[in-house]
Amino acid sequence: MKYELVCGLETHVELSSKSKIFCSCRTDFGAEPNTHCCPVCIGLPGTLPTLNAEVVNLAIKAGLAVNCEINTVSKMDRKNYVYPDLPKAYQISQYDLPLCKNGYIELGSGRKIRIERIHIEEDAGKLVHKGGDIYIDYNRGGVPLIEIVTAPDIRSSNEAKEYLEKLQLIMRYIGVSDCKMQEGSMRCDVNVSVRPENSNVLGTRTEIKNMNSLSFIVKAIEFEQKRQSQIIEKGQNVVQETLRYNEELNFTESMRSKEDAQDYRYFREPDLVTISTSRETIEAIK
Ligand code: ADP
Ligand code: ZN
Ligand code: MG
Repeated sequence: MKYELVCGLETHVELSSKSKIFCSCRTDFGAEPNTHCCPVCIGLPGTLPTLNAEVVNLAIKAGLAVNCEINTVSKMDRKNYVYPDLPKAYQISQYDLPLCKNGYIELGSGRKIRIERIHIEEDAGKLVHKGGDIYIDYNRGGVPLIEIVTAPDIRSSNEAKEYLEKLQLIMRYIGVSDCKMQEGSMRCDVNVSVRPENSNVLGTRTEIKNMNSLSFIVKAIEFEQKRQSQIIEKGQNVVQETLRYNEELNFTESMRSKEDAQDYRYFREPDLVTISTSRETIEAIK
């Protein structure tokens, strides 16, 4: 039997604001480690975030450019998880009220890839593995991001590539981001499932985390499509899990399974007020 690919992309794009999302530290890439940091972005107790208005404006601009509706009321939420790149042990993100929703990017074929939401959030720091040791650079912590989440509308690795190239071109053109995949200012989580060709129910998906090369995204999707098709062909079930793509050997490997899936215990960020965006502001950005 032939199996159809179903793919949805979650793309992180770093915004080109000069300062970070909740403090006045600089955002430029490539500085000496841990020089663009302050008590707010390294999460010292007693510090409070202040939302950078430029970040909200850039995110609205991004949303409008990909045909989104802008929510006139949205809010920030705490996403709790413990990892050394996140000194506060939570990331300030948006959960149930993202800034933008219901957009799309149209491909050359005329097919529309729906964008479910775009939310703003802070980036985490970066772990650097060197000579068996792990170092940490907090310069990236608090750099503003948007996350652009598509519906599971992508049906081939080529469509994924075309969608990402278009997204990159649009974000660069409107000056929202430089979208340099090799510098990590555009990164992708790739969700993949397969199903019999004439089916319209979704199969079990896997999620390949943190990809930053178009050609490897194409290879990873193709690998995963084949792997999952073979599992189903054998009468077995695909396991829902988070995967890492091995670039040297071209295969996907497990990072964590659904059983230890994270419960982020989202709650409203108490230190920030609701974001209200007036119709006039949205019109002005258009
Ligand atoms: P999360 O990854 O946080 O659980 P969602 O469930 O909203 O979030 O899905 C994230 C992404 O996975 C979206 O881009 C969505 O289109 C895609 N996705 C969801 N279900 C499937 C599926 N069965 N096959 C492929 N992609 C899927
Ligand atoms: Zn700072
Ligand atoms: Mg995800």
